[in-house]
Amino acid sequence: MKEFKAQSKKLLDLVVNSIYVNREIFLRELISNASDALDKRRFMSLTDSSLDADFGIELKTDKAARTLTVSDNGVGMNEKDLEDNLGVIAASGTEAFKKEQGKTDEQLIGQFGVGFYSSFMVAEKVTVISRKVGETKAYKWESNGVDGYEISPADRAEIGTDIIVKLKPDGDGDNYSEYLGDYTLKTLVKKYSDYIRYPIRMLEEKKADNGGDASVYELTVLNSMTPVWKKKKSELGETELDEFYKHNFRDYRAPLHNISTRVEGAVDYTALMFVPSEPSYDYYTKDYKRGLSLYCNGVMVMEKCAELVPEYLGFVRGIVDTPDLALNISRETLQHDRRLVAIANGLEKKILAEFDKLLKNDREKYEKIFTQFGKAIKFGAYDNFGANKDKLKDLLLYRSDADKKLITFKEYAEKLDKDAPVLYACGETAEKISMLPQLEGARESGKDVLYFTDPVDEFIARMLENYDGHKFENIADGTKESKPSAEGHEKLLERIQNSLGKKAKVAATDKLKSYPVCLAAKGDVSLEMERIMQAMGGNGVKAERVLQVNLEHPVIANMETMTDDAFNDTVTVLYNEALIAEGYKTEPEFLTALNKLLSGARSAKQTKPTATAAKKSCHATSKKPTATDKTKSNGDEK
Ligand code: ADP
Repeated sequence: MKEFKAQSKKLLDLVVNSIYVNREIFLRELISNASDALDKRRFMSLTDSSLDADFGIELKTDKAARTLTVSDNGVGMNEKDLEDNLGVIAASGTEAFKKEQGKTDEQLIGQFGVGFYSSFMVAEKVTVISRKVGETKAYKWESNGVDGYEISPADRAEIGTDIIVKLKPDGDGDNYSEYLGDYTLKTLVKKYSDYIRYPIRMLEEKKADNGGDASVYELTVLNSMTPVWKKKKSELGETELDEFYKHNFRDYRAPLHNISTRVEGAVDYTALMFVPSEPSYDYYTKDYKRGLSLYCNGVMVMEKCAELVPEYLGFVRGIVDTPDLALNISRETLQHDRRLVAIANGLEKKILAEFDKLLKNDREKYEKIFTQFGKAIKFGAYDNFGANKDKLKDLLLYRSDADKKLITFKEYAEKLDKDAPVLYACGETAEKISMLPQLEGARESGKDVLYFTDPVDEFIARMLENYDGHKFENIADGTKESKPSAEGHEKLLERIQNSLGKKAKVAATDKLKSYPVCLAAKGDVSLEMERIMQAMGGNGVKAERVLQVNLEHPVIANMETMTDDAFNDTVTVLYNEALIAEGYKTEPEFLTALNKLLSGARSAKQTKPTATAAKKSCHATSKKPTATDKTKSNGDEK
């Protein structure tokens, strides 16, 4: 019995004893090794045709013996190879190992990409029987992964290697027996090794055709061998990409769009990316794991490599295949890998360029994508202090009040006179915004307004400051608009202000038509921002509210002659009307004030139930108030 080298032993300890979450990768590692051995033999066969063979990998299970065997007819190993390759862990690895104390087991195992040793996560014993190319003798290497290993002569009729994994007993929630099941093995091969260039075969149990109990076995190939991303467009079946997407990313719906790219340069890579039909159910939660699957020459290295896509494009799924990264590179090391950063930058550019192309050439599709993932793109424009705002601003779509469809800032700005502002209105939904009183003025003067329905929209506008020199302007911003003359109405405005108190400043406006009042904000904090900040727990942030009054409106004109009581109730009702229009909750005093005003109106009817009164109450609701109406209501209030 030979002992493992000191550091190797330490690492093996970790492998055997850690509850490594991703145990199943042992099969990927063994298949990858087999594939490498086949590569070597195939390469030799180019110059020595006697080495040619029907290259392949085979999986065999023996339920009684609890063994899973991975066999290949690759280059094989002799006694010395077994000793050198399987007795130690690569020297460079051991160096790194010394430096990396203090890491968790999982980090360490991940870091070394333990390859062959990962089989000890599931095995109580591993036996390797191998015969090397050009040799007649075969050897057996055997180990329980703890005490050491033994090498002895063995028999093997053909060149190649068998790795016989004797599974640990089940128990304690561990189900090692699953690796004896056809279904699990098939699934694992599909998941990790589908694109291995050699056929991975397995004797699969099939029910006999005659319906009897006897089983028949059939040798089936489990992997598809050619990566779809390596196929030419002309070789791809119509739905092959869709099927690939559905299978790999567990989505029963076809993707909205696929993007493929092949780059040769400082780093070579091929990428195949998909925009799903809609965000996955957990997309906007912290549970969502973004990332593209990373492959190295057709072998999956990492399932969701987050470093490959920026957070705001986290909805994009797909794969990246590069020959330039080592198969056993760990997540930790990867994060700081310059090549990976280069790939990620290239992919981000590619995706944005593709979106831009769609925006120009397939608007319908882009709108679909934006409807599903616009929030994420907007977040990208705002995030990181707007670091990406310039590359994303032309990909944003907003509903236009005038056009009743989604348009870009650019399309909006094209309609503007020089120095005219980009007008926007904030609200929860397009429907609610379209009913905002403030829109009336803009509509009458033929100005378009963009609907900002996401909380982040106004923050983006503030960050951009202007689009092509056109400043962004909230139509509910009381600071910017021109003030109509309040001549002759100063007293009235003052009276409203006194009644309203500190709730809001009172100012005249000419942007309203059919509404008597609306709410606006002055200064840096808009109403929308105040709401967002408060939702985020920032209670200190307050918008400076302005109650804008339409002096032309009959309701306001009516107020000139009201008694204090009726006047105060009317101010309360009007202020609450403005709150409602902006989507706020009403004040507690609102209903009392409203009821008082309503009962006043009803008592008018009750005292004089005549034809004239009915006629007059009609007048009261019409737009033109008459002197009689005013006196009448005043009289009733008393
Ligand atoms: P890695 O594959 O990263 O080098 P492993 O621990 O998985 O590390 O394997 C160590 C070495 O053992 C391989 O480099 C290879 O030389 C040899 N080896 C493993 N499996 C096989 C196999 N099926 N056929 C031939 N050689 C193998």
